[in-house]
Amino acid sequence: MPRIFSGIQPSGELHIGNYLGAVKNWVALQHEHESFFCIVNYHAITIPFAPEDLRRRTREMAVGLLASGLDSTKAAVFVQSDVPEHTELGWIFNTITPLGELERQVQFKEKSAKQEQVMAGILNYPVLQAADILLYLADTVPVGEDQVQHLELSRVIARNWNARFSPDAPYFPEPQPRLTPTRRIAGLDGQAKMSKSIGNTIGLLETPEQVWDKLRPAVTDPARQRKTDAGDPDKCPVIYQLHKAFSPPDTVAEVETKCRGAGWGCMDCKKALHANMMDELTPIRTRAEELMAKPAHVDELLADGARRARVVARGTIDTVRARMGLDAAQ
Ligand code: SF4
Repeated sequence: MPRIFSGIQPSGELHIGNYLGAVKNWVALQHEHESFFCIVNYHAITIPFAPEDLRRRTREMAVGLLASGLDSTKAAVFVQSDVPEHTELGWIFNTITPLGELERQVQFKEKSAKQEQVMAGILNYPVLQAADILLYLADTVPVGEDQVQHLELSRVIARNWNARFSPDAPYFPEPQPRLTPTRRIAGLDGQAKMSKSIGNTIGLLETPEQVWDKLRPAVTDPARQRKTDAGDPDKCPVIYQLHKAFSPPDTVAEVETKCRGAGWGCMDCKKALHANMMDELTPIRTRAEELMAKPAHVDELLADGARRARVVARGTIDTVRARMGLDAAQ
């Protein structure tokens, strides 16, 4: 069975951008792949954080993932710091990664430009990311478009290590991206990205009333000033995209027709979307409430995921140490 790895930041409650852009895809993939899904808290500490807040966000993320349908009997769902082999392999990879490769990364340039003092962790972030993936010898990585460059670096690192320590038969696979089918969801304000820091998201666990309060003022095709104005769904950056993600095909076709033909107003369109969104999201919210009421059970599921991940991770580290002569003391 092919193996996949994917990681997500412990950003607290999932929003529908995370859900549609990553997690919903993982839920489908877990049935066809040996799957490792990791809450990457070691990555999260490369920017300023408060320990108590990080702990809370990690737990909320775990609840969101499990409530969304990640099945701990099929996939290992775990927290990165519970599997210390991630940082061990990350250090090893640091020793074979040219500095220039890291300085070229677009995300490094973007993140470091925002900070007065740039910590080495931001530069080395993609090395740890390569370790995350290669620790599980994963051949496939579900990613968004913005992660493709990091994945290319993971292939370079795998190639470098193989050339030096496993020249006859490559040990590490060169992981291939599997782009998520849902493209990036725009923010409710029409901004290119749905992002918690901008405040233009809908939380995955929000109530029907809260979701409606956010959908109601969301931007639509600016050409539709009145109900009688014809519109263009392709110029409606949020609502039409969300219909394509949540509504059945016949409703999406109805949106096309009624928007272009001014057959309904934007409020009618949003009400139809709201109903379809809640059909999918209400069971997730119910499951999340059940999980939040049983924190010890969530801890057990994460611990079990980490145990299963460590079996594979330990095997990889043992091989890497042996090939590099790091096992002399054993
Ligand atoms: S009718 Fe629907 S798709 Fe068309 S502009 Fe309004 S909200 Fe957007």
